[in-house]
Amino acid sequence: MPTYTAPVEDMMFLFEKLRNNKEYNELEKYKEVTPDLVKDILQEAAKINQNLILPLAKVGDENPAILENGVVRTPPGYKEAYKKYIEDGWTSLSCDPKYGGQGMPKTVSAFFDEMLSSASLSFKLYSELSIGAYNCINHHASDEIKNKYLPKIVEGKWSGTMCLTEPVCGTDLGLLKTKAKKQSDGTFKLTGQKIFITSGDHDLTENIIHLVLARVDDSPAGTKGISLFLVPKFIVKEDGNVGPRNGISTGSIETKMGIKGSATCVLNFDEATGYMIGDKEKGLSAMFTMMNLERIVVGIQGLGISEIARSLLNMKSIIEGERALCFWLSQQTEVSLYHPDEKARREASDYVSLMTPVVKSLFTDLAMEITSDAMQIYGGYGYTKDQGIEQLYRDNRITPIYEGTNSVQAADLVFRKLSNKNGDVINKFLDQVKNECNSNNEKIRPFISDFNNYLDVLKKFSDWMIEKSKTDKDDVSAAANDYLKTLGFVSIAYAWIKVLEVSFKDYNENKNFYDDKIDTARFYFDKVLPRAEQHYKSAISGSSNIMNFKFN
Ligand SMILES: Cc1cc2nc3c(=O)[nH]c(=O)nc-3n(C[C@H](O)[C@H](O)[C@H](O)COP(=O)(O)OP(=O)(O)OC[C@H]3O[C@@H](n4cnc5c(N)ncnc54)[C@H](O)[C@@H]3O)c2cc1C
Repeated sequence: MPTYTAPVEDMMFLFEKLRNNKEYNELEKYKEVTPDLVKDILQEAAKINQNLILPLAKVGDENPAILENGVVRTPPGYKEAYKKYIEDGWTSLSCDPKYGGQGMPKTVSAFFDEMLSSASLSFKLYSELSIGAYNCINHHASDEIKNKYLPKIVEGKWSGTMCLTEPVCGTDLGLLKTKAKKQSDGTFKLTGQKIFITSGDHDLTENIIHLVLARVDDSPAGTKGISLFLVPKFIVKEDGNVGPRNGISTGSIETKMGIKGSATCVLNFDEATGYMIGDKEKGLSAMFTMMNLERIVVGIQGLGISEIARSLLNMKSIIEGERALCFWLSQQTEVSLYHPDEKARREASDYVSLMTPVVKSLFTDLAMEITSDAMQIYGGYGYTKDQGIEQLYRDNRITPIYEGTNSVQAADLVFRKLSNKNGDVINKFLDQVKNECNSNNEKIRPFISDFNNYLDVLKKFSDWMIEKSKTDKDDVSAAANDYLKTLGFVSIAYAWIKVLEVSFKDYNENKNFYDDKIDTARFYFDKVLPRAEQHYKSAISGSSNIMNFKFN
């Protein structure tokens, strides 16, 4: 089993020293979240992840979740650990105090997400979708539904799922067939089959709250006819207690390459009672509230798995840069949700939207590279089960696939986010980055000059993509993955520049720590960042090499 020491020092460095974000610092609700408080939380988080959760990774891999007489049983030890996990309040970390949450910012919960992903991704998935469901219900449901369901989800007594995929559709949700029929009391009866549902059934919680996409019988075909429903495993009575079983059964659970402790279920809905969330036929956009935040969390899964596998400078320079970029993105997410000024919220929201596919795809792709390299370092023993490294590789392999495959993320980036507002968002991002990275410190200058060259590459690449999107969509499609990677590598370099500014400014406070940061950044700039340009060169070769290929 790999050993794991949570990177609390690096996380605290980010929290204390990289808070120089004007809009984030204006958020009233986080004024009392002091570094001392965050340090206490992270130290406790480190203990539970290192001592209680980490050993479950191997247990779950060797004793996968099973379906027995219609009941899904989690691996040995999961129940006891989950009980302690919710008693200590970890499910409620970033939730609203109104529903029993601790009200911590995403900057803090993202650190916890990373630690939990390092310790055991399978165990994490049982509560991860609960937070996604919490966010979706909180944004789109009526007060009655919120008051009835959120406190138990926040407490961890009930968990959540996200039910999109069906036998005929994963990416193309316009094809979905699950039907919802309106009843005289305003509720709906749902009938259909959902597949690949993470934590779709298990024995950890008293109830499971499914968020299900379905089509009301008079709604049109395609994505425009999809609505969102809350469908509990057990009907919740008026007094808030769990009542009779709803019409949902588990058909089977998947046998998988990795994350074997996580139950991935086929769920059959047979006239199951459901409650519509949000407006009729606006289900897909409501579900995207859940999915967008989830995509960032999946990126963090890649980061967490990379962290526990790491041992080379290449990995270290990517991981620490990713963590710093993630911290910046968490700040932007908070500003997009809670800043009093509408313009500040909108600008931050544009950045979150631009960067979500990048973090989801690049971090998870790099985690494949990092876990593969980690296996290689161990030679033959890396391939055997002894070191637990091959499990990290297998567990991570799902992250580029679920929550929208990485190629679909790249298409989302170039066709929606990049061309949106005629390229204003990327241009604003580039201008802001250039303005921020202009320190006069002599020592940082070589880094900035190098960085500016790559910013120019990104600018040329962005202009090329925006222009091509008007004339040749095939070129844009063929370049999408490369563009995502160039934007990602340059964004990580931006995060490194922020780290370097602090490292040179506060150098005398902690020389060893900052020497390490400066050397790691140098490695990133010399050995990793050049990949940004290679992707650009590959992309501008266009699509004729694919489209004109002659198959004999
Ligand atoms: C372990 C696991 C857990 C999961 N958990 C959940 C869950 O909790 N809830 C849920 O609803 N689903 C879940 N899924 C389903 C997952 O989200 C889908 O498998 C994924 O979205 C891909 O859909 P698909 O399998 O139908 O593949 P397809 O959509 O058929 O994709 C196959 C390939 O084609 C590519 N492709 C598809 N469309 C395009 C396009 N337009 N342009 C370019 N390339 C394209 C994809 O990138 C991919 O490489 C889970 C899956 C697994 C394996």
